[in-house]
Amino acid sequence: MYHPKYAMFFDMHTMKACPDVGRDFHADVFAENLKKTGVDLVGFHAKCNQGFCYFDTQTGIRHPALPPERDLFGEVVRECARRNIKVSAYFNCGLSNEDAVRHPEWSRIGMAGNLLHPEVYDLGWISPYIRTMCPNSPWRDHLMKLIGEVREKYPVAGFLFDSFNVFPCICPRCKEGMRKAGLDSSKEEDVMIFAQKSILKLAEDISAMLRPKENGFLTYFLGVSVADNTRIGSYLECECLPNNPVWGYDYLPIFSRYCRNLADVPVLNMTGRFNNWGDFGSLRTEEALEYDLLFGLANGMRPNVGDHLPPRGNFAPCIFDRVGKVFRKIHVFDPWFDGAKNLTDLAVVSPGKVSKTPVLTGAVRMLSELRMQFDVVDEHCDWEKYDLLFLPDNVLLNDDIASRIKRHLDAGKKIIATGNSGLNAAKTAFLFEKEWGCRYLGECECDPAYFRLTGDFAREVPDMPLAVYTRGLKVESLSGAQVAGEVISSCYDRHWDGKYSFCYTPPARSTGLPFLVLTDQCAYCSFPLCQGYYNQTSPDLRKVLEIMLRRFLPEPLLRADRRFPTFARAFVTEKETCLIVHLLDYQPDLRGKNFMIEDALPITGTKISLRLDGRTPKNVFLAPDRTEIPFTVSNDRLEFTVPESFGYAMIVAEISR
Ligand SMILES: [Zn+2]
Repeated sequence: MYHPKYAMFFDMHTMKACPDVGRDFHADVFAENLKKTGVDLVGFHAKCNQGFCYFDTQTGIRHPALPPERDLFGEVVRECARRNIKVSAYFNCGLSNEDAVRHPEWSRIGMAGNLLHPEVYDLGWISPYIRTMCPNSPWRDHLMKLIGEVREKYPVAGFLFDSFNVFPCICPRCKEGMRKAGLDSSKEEDVMIFAQKSILKLAEDISAMLRPKENGFLTYFLGVSVADNTRIGSYLECECLPNNPVWGYDYLPIFSRYCRNLADVPVLNMTGRFNNWGDFGSLRTEEALEYDLLFGLANGMRPNVGDHLPPRGNFAPCIFDRVGKVFRKIHVFDPWFDGAKNLTDLAVVSPGKVSKTPVLTGAVRMLSELRMQFDVVDEHCDWEKYDLLFLPDNVLLNDDIASRIKRHLDAGKKIIATGNSGLNAAKTAFLFEKEWGCRYLGECECDPAYFRLTGDFAREVPDMPLAVYTRGLKVESLSGAQVAGEVISSCYDRHWDGKYSFCYTPPARSTGLPFLVLTDQCAYCSFPLCQGYYNQTSPDLRKVLEIMLRRFLPEPLLRADRRFPTFARAFVTEKETCLIVHLLDYQPDLRGKNFMIEDALPITGTKISLRLDGRTPKNVFLAPDRTEIPFTVSNDRLEFTVPESFGYAMIVAEISR
């Protein structure tokens, strides 16, 4: 299978009303521009979400404005092959409007019996989701034939299958399927279970037809979980347009740390030259693109930049110029990106479908700001390689998770837990009370609650009751556990008594309830710190997490001094005899409704300390030009000061064998 290095993807959902499709498109010029940009894999539409095909099809609907002699997809495949550029075929599988207009019986029918869906994602009537395709209708066979046509006719490197989103359908075929499966089609919950199974089955059937792993097709299904994609696809695609709030700037930090733990396959980091799909008229800054792509590269992901091809094919060369400039800037670092693996000190455990929840967002932000090197794992990943696990806020211990945690504890390893994490699935008791150092008494009534740290820890936060911004748990500590913080109640709980609204609720007195409990194997905070941090980004809550981490990780892999801002990001990778430190100093800045990155900020003068784990560095340099950096080694740590750098700095320590 091909391992892409620099990819671009061209979105081209063309309305039926568009005239002159392909009129100004010259595939040789297009491919030449790709070549100049440094692209080695291009994603191009075989069929768009409007239902139109751009290849020579006997089965599908060609765009009516595409002249009969034109085969845009085939022309691209041919001209790209001449320039050694691979092509991946894009198919929209969940949306195909023209097919749905011609065959309404192929559309999904919503819970209210509606064929049209202005309710989907609250997008209203101006949306590609106005009709969606039922995977149990004849659409399935039609789609499979289309995919088969492309596989037979064109030497493609792979396929990107889009829109495997789960929407309810109560069409007669789905109703019959639910009846056979013992599901109740009048209950939305049952309908969604069936819808999820149906769309996954379609992806599985496409995979069975293509056999991507055996046949070497790059294959990914957008909308199917990452874990399922590792089973039925052959690479991973992390689609993230950070200016679309669905993703935002918190999505990539979670998924870049998750995808790499599932399988050893290529991971593409798809961003866009624009702010959102369908936003034809924007060209993001070099710095914004750099940040997205370098963030991915520092986490083992290769670049993929999304673009739009105008229907006439009259693309703007300045877009290629900008993307090419960014690719060339990155290219010089490739000797140290290629094949490098991230080093980590701990894993954040997130069972169930990993997504950008407030809890995971808060956890990943705090750990990143504390310079921690970590993975995000779910039950599909191996947890045994980690000495330290972080169970953020709501990790309940079902049988599977409990047995993993037991193995971890039996091996003498450590756990950090917050909020509900550690309770049994029924939320009635901690499963490992002795290790957690406390007993569950119920929900804490304090609303709002405050906390104070005690003993030596008190000095680390302001000497006042500090807000937690969430509801927490009432626990009692067990003998042998150290209580390092306590819960402070407010004068009144927040409420309305029918006459007065109790909205001013200052702190009042200590409840005697533990806020932070420390044992030999576990550091537990009885309030959901991550949700609290997400709600109000209190550095004092982050300090609590820092204290918990420090207990079990006194010498973290990486430290940076205060010249390196908390919004800047640092990663450590290893390749053969090199330890590689990646420093990214860009700040997504909220300007009006949108985030903007326009500046590469200085990193110069930052002091870095890196744990060596017994390695002996022979030299340290700034890549790519190998500028030597003076360094010292003491107590198994390498220390150096970063020379003049802006935005991104890659520092390489070569290790003696
Ligand atoms: Zn259906």
